[in-house]
Amino acid sequence: MSFDTVVKGGTVVTASDSFVADVGITGEKIVALGQDLDPLNGTRIIDAKGKFVLPGSIDVHVHLELPFCGTVSADDFTTGTKAAAAGGVTTLIDFATQDADKGLMEGIRNRMAAAEPKVCVDYSLHSIITKWSDEIAAELPDVIEFGIPSFKMFMIYKREGWQSDDAALYSALATAKDYDGMIMVHAESEGVLNVLIDKYLKDKEKWGAYAHTLSRPSFTESEAIQRAIKWSEVTGGHLYVVHMSTGEGADLVKAAKENGVPVDCETCPQYLLLNDEVFKGPEGHLYATCPQIKKPHDSERLWKGLVDGEVPIVATDTCTFDKTQKAMWEGDFTRIPFGMPGVETLLPSIFTFGYREKKFSLNHLVSLIATHPAKLFGLYPQKGTIAVGADADLAIIDPEKSRTIDYRQMETNCDWSPYQGMEMYGFPDVTLSRGAVVAKDGKFVGKLGHGRFVKRTRGGSL
Ligand SMILES: [Zn+2]
Repeated sequence: MSFDTVVKGGTVVTASDSFVADVGITGEKIVALGQDLDPLNGTRIIDAKGKFVLPGSIDVHVHLELPFCGTVSADDFTTGTKAAAAGGVTTLIDFATQDADKGLMEGIRNRMAAAEPKVCVDYSLHSIITKWSDEIAAELPDVIEFGIPSFKMFMIYKREGWQSDDAALYSALATAKDYDGMIMVHAESEGVLNVLIDKYLKDKEKWGAYAHTLSRPSFTESEAIQRAIKWSEVTGGHLYVVHMSTGEGADLVKAAKENGVPVDCETCPQYLLLNDEVFKGPEGHLYATCPQIKKPHDSERLWKGLVDGEVPIVATDTCTFDKTQKAMWEGDFTRIPFGMPGVETLLPSIFTFGYREKKFSLNHLVSLIATHPAKLFGLYPQKGTIAVGADADLAIIDPEKSRTIDYRQMETNCDWSPYQGMEMYGFPDVTLSRGAVVAKDGKFVGKLGHGRFVKRTRGGSL
């Protein structure tokens, strides 16, 4: 058998197994796994002795070049996917927003036209529904057939015109059930949230960025999750809670799963590694995300959820805003562009603070950021594992190597990092995307436009 590339002698890690083997790659695919694969003349050898060979990570929650708060997020489809490659993420899922009164496919085609010439790793899109209607219900099966089986709805953002009320959410879940689709929700309680925001707005100088956390107590998330779970329970529609930030949320999802409700969820590194003390510093506003970073006991509960299984996925909600963009808040916590860089540090953060701190095995890490995302979002077994026939998407890690996080050394187009100065292990020495080396030692070395839209299958489950 001839190979274009052989990854030699590494410890191959999947969600269920670890074993020393060579990985033989021809074209874009893994074609052999075994001992002492025989490279011919001209085969590229990547020496992985003493290293871990992981499936490329899949970040199912990314917003690149997103218009928000009168600006556009600072990582575009180029810098954002370069950052992904440098951090070992070989597939990401971004979002296509429905323009009010237009169909979903129009938003998807516009987003794909923006992404296609720029993306450096593979990508897909979730379809954001901003205005539910009979027409949208009728379009759902076409979008699913096109390869996008997941739809996101916001329970907040009424003023922006993006909110889905209970009627919309209920109807969408019922429709999704009929076509094996999934409804993703941003779960926060619109009405009560606005009461609290108005309350703290009166004293905004006194509280500064900390008002962002004061105005969004945990119950504003957990009440909305509870309500969405109810609609999932009664319709049987598959619900997925995005960027879950509270321990209460994990409790609710666990109980619902035990009762057979088809609900899944993700949390993000910022909710695991940081807590709301960050808002008290002079640059506290930089850390504003939506929902915001919560308390240490929430982080603790979310880590436990990752271990026990009620939180099966870590994704980043990358939405990069640089210091100039963040400065637009001018002391008003309601005007901070919400979001932070993250895709580049997904794998290292979970490798360092999950695996290395012995919270779980490396196999479990693979399940959280590669296999579960692939299975739940219809990419498996093309992606999310290392197996003959799968795409040759790999992250090769030297377990002894660490790096001090410094935004200046990173591919993200951001002039700060929420993890600045932290020591992290697990940055890949080499990242391969469909057989091509796209990053080496933290630097993007691939080709612009190498990335490709990946059609996904419906009915994903773990
Ligand atoms: Zn998001």
